[in-house]
Amino acid sequence: MNILKNVMDDVLRRNPNEPEFHQAVKEVLLSLEPVAEKHPEWVTDKIFDKIVEPERQIIFRVPWIDDKGVEHINRGFRVQFNSAIGPYKGGLRFHPSVNIGIVKFLGFEQIFKNSLTGLPIGGGKGGSDFDPKGKSNSEIKRFCQSFMLELNRHIGENTDIPAGDIGVGGREIGYMYGMYKKINNEFTGVLTGKGLNYGGSLGRTEATGYGLCYFMNEALKAKSKSFYGANVVISGSGNVAIYAHQKATQLGAKVIAMSDSSGYIYDDNGINLDTIKKIKEVERKRISEYIKYHPTATYTEGCIGIWTVKCDIALPCATQNEIDQNSAKILIDNGCYAVGEGANMPSTIEAVDLFIENKIIFGPAKAANAGGVATSALEMSQNSMRYSWTFEEVDDKLQTIMKGIYEKCSTAATEYGYEDNLVIGANIAGFIKVAEAMYAQGI
Ligand code: GLU
Repeated sequence: MNILKNVMDDVLRRNPNEPEFHQAVKEVLLSLEPVAEKHPEWVTDKIFDKIVEPERQIIFRVPWIDDKGVEHINRGFRVQFNSAIGPYKGGLRFHPSVNIGIVKFLGFEQIFKNSLTGLPIGGGKGGSDFDPKGKSNSEIKRFCQSFMLELNRHIGENTDIPAGDIGVGGREIGYMYGMYKKINNEFTGVLTGKGLNYGGSLGRTEATGYGLCYFMNEALKAKSKSFYGANVVISGSGNVAIYAHQKATQLGAKVIAMSDSSGYIYDDNGINLDTIKKIKEVERKRISEYIKYHPTATYTEGCIGIWTVKCDIALPCATQNEIDQNSAKILIDNGCYAVGEGANMPSTIEAVDLFIENKIIFGPAKAANAGGVATSALEMSQNSMRYSWTFEEVDDKLQTIMKGIYEKCSTAATEYGYEDNLVIGANIAGFIKVAEAMYAQGI
């Protein structure tokens, strides 16, 4: 790093012990060096220094009572990172690993992702270190209500519109929405990912996974490849993974492995999605249950082993840094020719470097998984209009948006002399819109 080295040094100094945030910023700043060269006015105006500093960070106590009557305290977060192009928008993550550094990395990524969608949404993220695993429905409900009791004063349909992420799905959004409405006596589109009978959008549930496949479809097409007949490995078995499986299968691929945080399943005949949905969405159990229903499948303890499964296309849809340099090398050695990131920052910087060096068709998270938040923005539009579009209308818009994102990334990469490098393309294209807005607004 050259021109932007001071910016990176300040981030390291100001945000100690936040390795994921450092990683997310470093990856973006490395890509932005040529932009800084071309736009000295943005350097003078400190646009780069401003964009790495959240506009606002909120940390709060979340007390809740379990089914035995015992009190627990968790920590809640909302980082309102950047509102240059629209109200803060981004999900809430409930997972024991959540801390301010994780929320900042996610919020930072969200700025560029949301910009790439072409829709007017700024970047934000939040969550809690609450662990939903093994909690009863009543415990989840009480936690969500307590979380919203504080969060409600910081959000609003024109200010900040949270949604789901890991550990936060339709059920949690429902409980939080109910609490928001009770406190504010207002039926507004303050959250997205809502149920269909109270302001949700058709297609939102499927959007991240479908969008990932639409984006990868474009990237594959550009290199005369496709999902048709390809063997696909998808890590994770949550919302993103499930709908990536569904769309990849519709496009003619066979999904041969999936995972959860305990281990992975493999079946050369293809993984049955109905069984996965039953285990994960209805019973909320571990993926190891799968082999009880499908004796041809095998289960292996440890989720990282999924990258040793030989495949044509890999779709990491679990969590950050799930593909390290070693896993990337194994994937490449086994003949994998495309990687599409459904999770946020699932590949380490070293893994991404390997993919790029080896000319793997690589769809970076900010671009490839933007379909979820894009459809959240479509949900916001429908809420504002007090109207709802059909599934086909939403899906059609999603396809157009994902195609547009691919084109923006590809064009920016070529314009700056990094043809085919969609990582650099996504960072540059996402950044420029926000930088122009910040420069114009003097903020
Ligand atoms: N959590 C998702 C993401 O990482 C969706 C956010 C949203 O819909 O606001 O983009």
